[in-house]
Amino acid sequence: MAREPCPGEAAHGEIRIGVSRCLLGENVRYDGGHKRSAFVTETLAPFVRYIAVCPEVEMGMSTPREPIRLVRGEDGPRLRGVNSGKDYSAGMRRFAAKRVAELRGLDLHGYILKKGSPSCGLFRVRV
Ligand code: SF4
Repeated sequence: MAREPCPGEAAHGEIRIGVSRCLLGENVRYDGGHKRSAFVTETLAPFVRYIAVCPEVEMGMSTPREPIRLVRGEDGPRLRGVNSGKDYSAGMRRFAAKRVAELRGLDLHGYILKKGSPSCGLFRVRV
């Protein structure tokens, strides 16, 4: 069933929001789980079109997988496996450059990102 347009949509077109895929309830986290947000999936969903992104899975990491974290390096933060110490930085940078260019082409109105994530988090991510 088609939804009613939200306020302002008729004048400005659909509202396109990039979102961390785990917030939609998809099992993409390192532990095989999700971080479903009722606000994202129930409150806001009728009014927007989501473009889901999971950097870790889209760059080729499996689910479940080793957790990763940001570690201070000489030339800036590095993305490393918590247990193995494997450095995922180069792969993530390659993926991000390509994916960000694609997202830029979609002219998104905003993003909803999982806080604290070494891959999705924007502010106050632990290093
Ligand atoms: S990389 Fe982002 S979308 Fe994927 S599981 Fe982690 S926080 Fe969620």
